[in-house]
Amino acid sequence: MAILIAALALAAASPRLLVFPLPNQVRSNGGAISISGYRILSDASLSGEAVTAREDLPLGGNRPEEVRLHLNIKMPSLGQEGYHLRATKAQILIESPTRAGLFYGVQTLRQMTTRTASGWLVPSVDVVDQPRFGWRGMMLDTSRHFFPKKDILHMLDLLSQYKINSFHWHLVDDGGWRIQIKKYPNLTDRGAWRIPTDGRFPEYKGLDFPPRRPNDHHYGGFYTQDDVREIVKYATKRHVNIVPEIEMPGHNLAATIAYPWLICSKDLKPGFQKETDFVFPNIFCAGKESTYKFVEDVLTEVMALFPSPVIHIGGDEVDKYLWSRCDDCKATMTKEHLASPAELESYFVRRVEKFVNARGRHIIGWDEILEGGLAPNAYVMSWRGEAGGIEAAKQHHKVVMTPWDQCYFDHDNTELPIEVALGYDPAPVSGGPNLAKYVMGAQASIWTETLPFERNIEDRLFPRILALSQSLWRVPRESESSFLDRLDLATGDLFRKIPGMHLRGPRVDQTVVLPGEQVILKEMPIGGLKLRYTLDGTRPNTTSSKWPGKLSLTKGQVLTAGYVGTNGLASEATQISCAKIQSAAVANVQPGLTYAYFAGSFKSVPAFAGLSPARSGEHTVIGLFAEDKEKEHYALDFKGYLRIDRAGTYRISTLSDDGSVLWLDGAKIVDNDGFHGRREQTATLKLEPGLYPLEVGYFQFTEGASLDVMISGPGIPKQKLGKGLLFH
Ligand SMILES: [Zn+2]
Repeated sequence: MAILIAALALAAASPRLLVFPLPNQVRSNGGAISISGYRILSDASLSGEAVTAREDLPLGGNRPEEVRLHLNIKMPSLGQEGYHLRATKAQILIESPTRAGLFYGVQTLRQMTTRTASGWLVPSVDVVDQPRFGWRGMMLDTSRHFFPKKDILHMLDLLSQYKINSFHWHLVDDGGWRIQIKKYPNLTDRGAWRIPTDGRFPEYKGLDFPPRRPNDHHYGGFYTQDDVREIVKYATKRHVNIVPEIEMPGHNLAATIAYPWLICSKDLKPGFQKETDFVFPNIFCAGKESTYKFVEDVLTEVMALFPSPVIHIGGDEVDKYLWSRCDDCKATMTKEHLASPAELESYFVRRVEKFVNARGRHIIGWDEILEGGLAPNAYVMSWRGEAGGIEAAKQHHKVVMTPWDQCYFDHDNTELPIEVALGYDPAPVSGGPNLAKYVMGAQASIWTETLPFERNIEDRLFPRILALSQSLWRVPRESESSFLDRLDLATGDLFRKIPGMHLRGPRVDQTVVLPGEQVILKEMPIGGLKLRYTLDGTRPNTTSSKWPGKLSLTKGQVLTAGYVGTNGLASEATQISCAKIQSAAVANVQPGLTYAYFAGSFKSVPAFAGLSPARSGEHTVIGLFAEDKEKEHYALDFKGYLRIDRAGTYRISTLSDDGSVLWLDGAKIVDNDGFHGRREQTATLKLEPGLYPLEVGYFQFTEGASLDVMISGPGIPKQKLGKGLLFH
């Protein structure tokens, strides 16, 4: 009964529907309809196809409710994918001018139908809905690791339920050639199999393709043309377009192992060779006619399998070292009046484009294809940030955005939190009319060097893809807190369906509480998992105490809470610390703060008190210094005061690569420590007006380096901590 009341309350509070992406317009007719199940009635011409992927739609029951699907060409304003869903006590009707629209209407109905003790409940609503962008995608790299057909089918099923309509299938790369090409059997006989990989990158340990011997254990696999036809058919039924990617001319270690004549003639030594001036000869020769014949033969078979109007031809990270010393490549450059290897690559892409265009398709390539001149009709996929996409739009070429720092979902969930995906806009108004006109949409991309299993993909994809789908679908943006509240409520069902999905820790309004103040965790009901906690800084496990619903802490205590299953902690851990943070009585402060620089190899933020700095001074903001740009192995310590003018709740975060820690009045309130990539950790706390002693510690071990400290609060939109806020 409690469940029924909760569901009714939810329906009454419509549009708080647990539908992802949230529809554009939802009008409540009041109340909800209790049903035993559905019966689909569709126009004769539809023959039931639009309800594919209705696995979760309860069908039947003793008195099923009729759901009418009606193809209505008199609703052109709904576009190619829009629909109108009306659920009243009298009828449930889904209308759309297209089959895709009917399909999406069914997906919305499916998600808003909730189980009750006695049957099912659907809110009585009117939904008018259509997407903002026509390209809502996901890219999966099946080369670095092979994912069997059943994994691909399962993923297509899940993606389509959340209105993702494009699956970019990365079939070819250094790690293996994954699609059967009948004219070139070695591509898969040899190129799809290598020694077992340990999933590590970039040591190329797993990129060794030995000759096949009887007892070798080989890792890999490939999709036969029959597999591909089955997968394409399955996707088409779910209104997902599959964009095949045949990477060229670079990233082709697997193909050049299979057919060494694809490499420049002087360098017929396929395989990984650790030489000083290039990585490995994994690139096709752009000077030999036999290369173009090969590419055209392969694309002919690919285009026969995939109806996609767009074919991805890769084009990224081409190391042109071999071309610059190849007689064939040099002869082609002379003959075609090409000034540089970059122009030779552009020539290569133009030739491929001409071939593909002649067969009625477009090519799309990674943003490197802009270099040396863009082929006349090419679409561009922008991955090195958005600059390539913006430039392509300026040149009136169509664009798909997948900037690595916002859309590369192989980044783990702490490095690229769901809030980033939710806030992503591939064509903001500030980008001007070209962006609005030429950006077709965006996609999440998952490279699989370190992600060998389907469960790994689920972890990276869910729930972030729900956020990205919504940001590409819905025009009025939903607030972050409203989205996360809905996601919390839906997480139990999602987790049951997608056991590999990433679970956030319980959300909190404050990460720092006062002694005696009650801690409140926003609990998510997740079947099979219990919310447990510790007070000693350790991560909760199966023996930790169950969360009692509320608790108060004493000064210095740290509460760590998370969802625990039989195998231990299954979610992120949420930490709340207890501190009495007080402002200081100081006078005559100056703008800016002091800093100290420490040389040394640190793997966590050090205890600065025992160290002597190599240099020190004053600075206006908290961040890295230009003079340290090339350096590794050092640490920084910033000290000063944070000035707060208005009482209220503040969010203070560090965004750093590697670790950082922020103390306020001596209490550690942001712990973003450890050797990691660019990652943000946020503290939420109440502050009164005053000057608060502030310290930020940071260390750079190796690889990327960055440090920003951000603040938001009453009257302060999120910004870097700097002028007007920092004093010493
Ligand atoms: Zn060559």
